[in-house]
Amino acid sequence: MPTPAELTDWDLRHFWHSFTQMSEYEPMVIERAEGSWLVDVHGRRYLDGVSSLWCNLLGHRHPRIEAAIAQQLGKLPHATTLGMANVPAVELAKQLADLAPGELNRVFYASDGACAVEAALKIAFQYWLQCPTPRQGKTKYLAYDSAYHGDTLGSTAVGGIERFHALYKPLLFDVLRLPPPDARLGDASHHLARLEQMLQQRHEEIAALVIEPLLQGAAGMVLQPPGYLRGVRELTKRYDVLLIADEIVTGFCRTGKMFACDHEEVTPDMLCLGKSITSGTLPLAATLATDEIYDAFLGDYTTGCTFHHGHTYAGNPMAAAAACATLDVIADERVLEDTVPRLADRMTRVLAPLGKHPHVAGVRQLGTIAGVELCADRTNGVAFPPKERRGYRVCKQATAQGVWLRPLGDVIVVMPPLSINDAELELLGRVLAESIDAVC
Ligand code: PMP
Repeated sequence: MPTPAELTDWDLRHFWHSFTQMSEYEPMVIERAEGSWLVDVHGRRYLDGVSSLWCNLLGHRHPRIEAAIAQQLGKLPHATTLGMANVPAVELAKQLADLAPGELNRVFYASDGACAVEAALKIAFQYWLQCPTPRQGKTKYLAYDSAYHGDTLGSTAVGGIERFHALYKPLLFDVLRLPPPDARLGDASHHLARLEQMLQQRHEEIAALVIEPLLQGAAGMVLQPPGYLRGVRELTKRYDVLLIADEIVTGFCRTGKMFACDHEEVTPDMLCLGKSITSGTLPLAATLATDEIYDAFLGDYTTGCTFHHGHTYAGNPMAAAAACATLDVIADERVLEDTVPRLADRMTRVLAPLGKHPHVAGVRQLGTIAGVELCADRTNGVAFPPKERRGYRVCKQATAQGVWLRPLGDVIVVMPPLSINDAELELLGRVLAESIDAVC
């Protein structure tokens, strides 16, 4: 067993971390976890304030999820899903189809959120070539500024965060864009008018609109006005544009409903799921499609209408078993009915004092997802110069105090596992407030 010093050294020498400027990286090597806590190789404990990047829904080392994975390991760790199925992936497909709104009855698996979006984009394009009344001209996508859908080239193309995406523009296909449907910039009718104008002019070219329903996550947990999503569904239907809902962050109870779309009784044409699906244990993602879309891919093999797309580990049985166990826990432990509303309330109470802080522009919250936006001057809403990296520094300060947080620019994300207890949440709130005081 390597020593902590060796692990730290090897981490620095060999491990290239995602979204991390390695020239300033300070090694943090996690060895184990329990409930809402991460423990590093030195035995230091960190409260996981962001659910291991928004995926650890029920808390680390949940016994029922671990038991399901262990049991599956003893039967079938992996088998391809090209041309065959496995028991947990079949069970999960049935459960997802039952839970998802409307006729989203067909489940296509991948391992990461970006790949679920990538599949949806390709399915949309191919659908318009193969549907009963083909539309060869529908080859473009409509997406939002500030959107984030993952880091493959297709999902990057529909993303709209300058800091992450601008550099890669020469590699990306053209995407039609709308301003972010930010509730601070206008109500639903304001944003819907812009969408309708775009659809009136360009619908014949547009295969699909991609949206993070109710909340743009990586943009800084930015909320959309009530009624917007419902209006988007009506307009996309009216103008024959497919609606792809990216619920990789919002899915599985996080917002207070099973899916964010449920808040506005919307059924998209495709629904992308990931992250919380296995409660943060194993990589799994899914693209759900309606029967109507699926049917367009049926036919004689020689016509080429098959969806020629897939990944080696898609529908992995252990990941699917973890997902089935996650859904069982959600149902059996009344997570949606009791745990989520209770945590959402506690978060509102703990974060309320921060809302009045002179360096906080606002606290935004949807269910158990929250963002605390820092600012230089609350009275006139002036932001800190980005190069001062206040958000990053606040999180660094919090980590030194034993609370692991990760910012989105100057927005501090608070999205703890649902396992977090009252004392832990109080600790998170206190450390965050002290860290803001110290850095701002
Ligand atoms: N869609 C959204 C809305 C996301 O926030 C993310 C990742 N945070 C993704 C897609 C990509 O998921 P993954 O990192 O699993 O590829």
